[in-house]
Amino acid sequence: MDFDYTESEQSFRQEVQDFLRENLPPKKDRDEHFLKNWLEKVRERGWVGFSWPKAFGGSDGGLIEQAILKEEMALAKAPPLGTSMMGLAWVGPGIMEYGTEEQKKKFIPDILDSKVTWCTGYSEPNHGSDLAAIQCKAELIGDHYLVNGQKIWTTGAPWSQWIILLTRTDFKAKSKHEGITCFLVPMDSPGVEVKPIKNMAGDKHFAEIFFTDVQVPAENRLGAEGEGWKVTVSALANERSSIGEVTQMFSKLDELKELVRSTRVQGRPAAEDPAVRRQLARFETKIAAMKYNGLRYLTKQIKGEPLSSETSVNKLHRASLEIEMDDFAVSLSGEAGLQLKGGENAVSGGSWSKSALNWPNVVIGGGTPNIQRNIIAERILGLPKD
Ligand SMILES: Cc1cc2nc3c(=O)[nH]c(=O)nc-3n(C[C@H](O)[C@H](O)[C@H](O)COP(=O)(O)OP(=O)(O)OC[C@H]3O[C@@H](n4cnc5c(N)ncnc54)[C@H](O)[C@@H]3O)c2cc1C
Repeated sequence: MDFDYTESEQSFRQEVQDFLRENLPPKKDRDEHFLKNWLEKVRERGWVGFSWPKAFGGSDGGLIEQAILKEEMALAKAPPLGTSMMGLAWVGPGIMEYGTEEQKKKFIPDILDSKVTWCTGYSEPNHGSDLAAIQCKAELIGDHYLVNGQKIWTTGAPWSQWIILLTRTDFKAKSKHEGITCFLVPMDSPGVEVKPIKNMAGDKHFAEIFFTDVQVPAENRLGAEGEGWKVTVSALANERSSIGEVTQMFSKLDELKELVRSTRVQGRPAAEDPAVRRQLARFETKIAAMKYNGLRYLTKQIKGEPLSSETSVNKLHRASLEIEMDDFAVSLSGEAGLQLKGGENAVSGGSWSKSALNWPNVVIGGGTPNIQRNIIAERILGLPKD
């Protein structure tokens, strides 16, 4: 097995590191102009939509370079490469594959230039894991569709300008995967009502969205009518090695080690406690396993083999690891560990307790652990469905 990078890959890493050294000031020195400048500079470098075809304004970047870019950005705790994570991750790729020429011209440049933010309207109150069972109705009337229904848990809905929306156009379809249709809808359309939901950490990142007689022009349909499932599934076939997430986990472990160094347990430095040391070693080993899994996925993609179910392994692994690390940090500091930002004795500015309360972000968002277990059991291990 060869883990070494080629000369040109190493020089690309150097280029990213040099850029970060010159353009990423410490967090405390970042003023209101910083983000705008940052977004312009990374765009100029061709790092936004790095792997997208040049014909669409991307850079045709290779998979290894893309992983290096993600790794270095995560290591430096740099801001995102665009304002619309979802636009870059799946709306853009979906439009490139299924969009009309007009849609490509209208939407792709704005995503790359961070001019718009997209949100994703898939989940409904009774249809989260079983996404294909959606009920939000779209009905073709003349030159537009009339949309009625509800979405929930839509991240970014309170500030997004556009939503990629899954609806049902055929309620009599033979299978639930048929009869689903995808739309690109402006959030300021009459009849769209956004009700932010406060999560238990106190943030209002997601919302319920109510659609009442919303008129969506037929030209805003993405892909053919009834083919929304295909559009949704294939848009996700991007770089999915989870290398960036692994780097974030290593950074989190460094912060945990820092916390251990500054904490005392029963009058002695926590770093001298064998149980604490063993736990840190366990975390490190688990993250290393994630890293090598990630590299395995990357190798597969480089060989041109599509990724499918295997990415559920790292998703599941990360979900439990994040919870274990947050719980460990919070319990290490006793009562003070529970205090949030502003609390008299809050530890690390309350960041560990906040992260512990935000566990649904990595555990539920994008598919629950049970669903990942089902995927691993059925599609990787070949176990029977019942
Ligand atoms: C932070 C966050 C951000 C999100 N952002 C978005 C977003 O931007 N857009 C969007 O559309 N959605 C978003 N979601 C919704 C998310 O995709 C769903 O919450 C998730 O898919 C689970 O669906 P559900 O909430 O309906 O739970 P359910 O599907 O009702 O699941 C409830 C429980 O039952 C279990 N379960 C369900 N089915 C099975 C099964 N077949 N076998 C075994 N166990 C099962 C689940 O594992 C879970 O424990 C977000 C959620 C969170 C927490």
